[in-house]
Amino acid sequence: MSVSKHEIPGPLARHSTRMALVRWGDRTVKIGGGAPVVVQSMTNTDTADVIATAIQVKALAAAGSEIVRLTVNSPAAAQAVAAVREQLDRMGVSVPLCGDFHYNGHRLLTQYPDCAQALSKYRINPGNVGTGAKRDDNFARMIEIACQHDKAVRIGVNWGSLDQDLLARLMDANAALADPLGSAAVMREALVRSALDSAARAIELGLSPDQIVLSCKVSAVQDLIAVYRDLASRSDFALHLGLTEAGMGSKGIVASTAAMAVLLQEGIGDTIRVSLTPEPGGDRAREVIVAQEMLQTMGLRAFTPLVTACPGCGRTTSTFFQELADSIQRWLREQMPEWRANYPGVETMAVAVMGCVVNGPGESKFADVGISLPGAGEAPVAPVFVDGERTVTLKGDRIAEEFQAIVAQYVERRYGVAGLMGNREAEPA
Ligand code: SF4
Repeated sequence: MSVSKHEIPGPLARHSTRMALVRWGDRTVKIGGGAPVVVQSMTNTDTADVIATAIQVKALAAAGSEIVRLTVNSPAAAQAVAAVREQLDRMGVSVPLCGDFHYNGHRLLTQYPDCAQALSKYRINPGNVGTGAKRDDNFARMIEIACQHDKAVRIGVNWGSLDQDLLARLMDANAALADPLGSAAVMREALVRSALDSAARAIELGLSPDQIVLSCKVSAVQDLIAVYRDLASRSDFALHLGLTEAGMGSKGIVASTAAMAVLLQEGIGDTIRVSLTPEPGGDRAREVIVAQEMLQTMGLRAFTPLVTACPGCGRTTSTFFQELADSIQRWLREQMPEWRANYPGVETMAVAVMGCVVNGPGESKFADVGISLPGAGEAPVAPVFVDGERTVTLKGDRIAEEFQAIVAQYVERRYGVAGLMGNREAEPA
């Protein structure tokens, strides 16, 4: 029996029923409750350096980050937060900011009310709020301030900073069982229990359950999947998904995608961050692009037209085809700030750049706009396909520029005002 494309089951509906609202000015980012999965990122500048931090936040927001987190680790950083916010507002950047607090968050939020107000969300790690009796007081103080300022809170548990008292209690209780669990299972239980207990305590202190986002980050793929499945089965809070310390380059991308894709497919995860270690001098916005591409290739959201390109083989003996695929993808991404405003729906457009005539025409026809470049030994001409039909054939030294112009014309015609009017007229009454 053949199975048609339409019978392939897609990702399950989002699991979390609660929706946290993260607001700044007129902008509201919804996390959970069935809202589209939100892309987040984090700065790596010294937060006390207002200009450097504002510039990086602006770049992350321009790349598509919908919330940007920054560390608030010192009085100088806390003092700078309101200035960063003001600088962003002056630049017309309304992306909400999340403050990342550890150890001294209760003091910083108390002593710098402008910081507490300028942030749209606080990230609190229950394992890093203090020790002994002070832990409860410090946690309570931060929740109290979140309630006063009506801010969302991420209770972010982390494998590397797990509440050691809780872990010791669970280990002791487990050891007393007739059939004890392995230590990894107890560790996972401690992560989930820390998040759920902290959320329950925050609600007791007056925080609305709808303003809570939970995360339990670990650095191993299978552990992350197990922990989040458990967390989702035991709560209805919005969930922040991410593999901590994912690593550099392709390893970080592959590990993050392997873990998150499984969970996202199951409807688990309402906001994601891809924690990539940048290459020295690398672009911090890479983590945003990877997160977007993960969601877009899974069919969960669309952000920017993506280029389908063949891998190349012995038929593509020049680098022209790789260069064209790369330059078209970069150009498409650069156009998006303007296109997003003027050409609704353009983010779903498919562009194909293929290396020869063997598979090229077929894939090009499947895209909205496609080009098949000449392979080795083939006539030096490049047929272009628009909406599945062969249109012009490009040749000579200006193939890249001419193909780009064809894509731009297609965008105007299909997604511009005239295109939209045409589409509406074509709709049944
Ligand atoms: S489309 Fe042509 S160049 Fe590209 S991988 Fe296939 S055979 Fe090779």
